[in-house]
Amino acid sequence: MAAFVSAPIDILIAGGGPSGLAVAIRAARRGFRTVLLERAAGVPDKACGEGLMPAGLRELEALGALALIEARDRAPFRGIRYVQEDGSSVEGRFSEGDGMGIRRTALSAALSSCASAAGVELRRDCVRAARVEDGVIAVDTDAGELRARLLVAADGLHSPLRKAALLNGKEKPRAARRFGVRRHFGLDPWTDLVEVHWAAGVEAYVTPISAEVVNVAFLWSTPVSRSGPAATFEDHLRRFPVLEARLKGRTATSEIRGIGPLLQRVRARGKDRLALVGDAAGYVDAITGQGLSLAFASAALLVEALPEDLSQDLGPALRRYDRSLRGRWLRYALPAKVLLALARRPALRRRALRLTVRFPVLFRTLLGMVE
Ligand SMILES: Cc1cc2nc3c(=O)[nH]c(=O)nc-3n(C[C@H](O)[C@H](O)[C@H](O)COP(=O)(O)OP(=O)(O)OC[C@H]3O[C@@H](n4cnc5c(N)ncnc54)[C@H](O)[C@@H]3O)c2cc1C
Repeated sequence: MAAFVSAPIDILIAGGGPSGLAVAIRAARRGFRTVLLERAAGVPDKACGEGLMPAGLRELEALGALALIEARDRAPFRGIRYVQEDGSSVEGRFSEGDGMGIRRTALSAALSSCASAAGVELRRDCVRAARVEDGVIAVDTDAGELRARLLVAADGLHSPLRKAALLNGKEKPRAARRFGVRRHFGLDPWTDLVEVHWAAGVEAYVTPISAEVVNVAFLWSTPVSRSGPAATFEDHLRRFPVLEARLKGRTATSEIRGIGPLLQRVRARGKDRLALVGDAAGYVDAITGQGLSLAFASAALLVEALPEDLSQDLGPALRRYDRSLRGRWLRYALPAKVLLALARRPALRRRALRLTVRFPVLFRTLLGMVE
């Protein structure tokens, strides 16, 4: 008697963060049988400033998830304020709608609800490895083997699937690496802007998350050659006395979460029957707060690029996806690299920001690039 072999899943997604869930929703709505595997128990949380720029917020609305987020887990912000060491500041308002601070767990829960409603099968499982066979990709998971027409690696910044597929970009020698960390505090937001406080080698990002909670994140550089204990959240906070005074006596409402190094290069965003989305598709830095917008954009571009019949050679579709995402990527990478160059040179950054006070059009141009 011939052994029964079940039909392959159309699209299998490794990772239930924002990018994986956005792919899942769009794929299921296109009629693909979609299964998503998330290794974390419960709703995954992550080190993130949680500020969704206007472009990302529009995507979230299009996915149907914005309406599911309760008022206690979100707060709009209207623009960005940069604060220098001497207290001087420059600020600008978005011209294309508001952004929104959204607690990551609430974002994930809302996207999961939309995915379930669209018919996505959500399972708790961890992807271990994958190999391409005849017209399918065979995926080893903790619960056994699954076969799919396409595997989507939405497994985050240091994507093991990207590495195993040899899609990691070439490492360039560099003197320093960037890391990020965040924590929430029970405190009424004092502004409807995201505040970025600058100091030499570290920035603090304050995002309103609700009427009573702010997210405080630090991004900093560490020399590659440095040994010894890493700087703590408190060490970073001490670099910003005004912020430290605001947080004094306030209750921390979450555990500290961090991640790094942040910069991740990729050679291509797809190969054979594997596609990379979100942070797994490459990352410059969190300095512009565009990671979530880019995660949603990559999900939309991937699903758009796929043919109806996934049993065919997916090479052309994945190359189309790679090209379209590269265009979007440049819009993200350019302002991120400019700001990183300024972050590395505090004296130049101080002068550049003073210039934007005199010529507000410069700051408006920057905002226009990241919103
Ligand atoms: C400090 C910091 C601040 C930031 N601030 C902002 C901000 O304010 N605004 C913004 O837009 N972006 C910000 N970002 C970027 C943003 O957090 C990311 O771009 C976003 O989380 C990317 O989503 P993702 O789904 O690609 O990856 P992730 O959110 O990392 O999700 C990956 C998921 O995959 C799961 N997973 C991993 N491996 C496996 C496996 N083998 N099998 C199954 N599941 C697996 C993980 O458990 C996780 O849930 C920030 C980043 C940092 C580090």
